[in-house]
Amino acid sequence: MDNLTRSQRSKNMRNIRSKDTLMETKIRSCIHGLGFRFRKNVLELPGKPDIVFPSYKVVVFLDSCFWHMCPYHHNIPKTRRSYWFPKLIRNKERAKEVNKKLKNEGWKIIRLWEHQVKNNFDKCIMEIISTLRL
Ligand SMILES: [Zn+2]
Repeated sequence: MDNLTRSQRSKNMRNIRSKDTLMETKIRSCIHGLGFRFRKNVLELPGKPDIVFPSYKVVVFLDSCFWHMCPYHHNIPKTRRSYWFPKLIRNKERAKEVNKKLKNEGWKIIRLWEHQVKNNFDKCIMEIISTLRL
């Protein structure tokens, strides 16, 4: 692997990570503003959910279009597909296992795509709130 590829890749990774953080912050601050109390990145729970409402037994995952292979925008990088593809597939499978474990422990799971947060922010918030009120 040459250096250019490596530095390009880490630049891409930084962009993806900072985008993820941005959508988490946006969702959290809105939910917080509505008066709901939650914890974030609870390490003891399977899959480290992004937002956890312990008293409601609800967890929220914000799934990056890239890391979770969204059917619309997952765009596997053209270079080094043999590196990315198994990695992303594994990630998707892990998410399924996490869902199963959490369900067995009695959690309700909300998974929101990055593109939903970006394009339908209000709808995402509504989905969270209506699940909390069930
Ligand atoms: Zn997407």
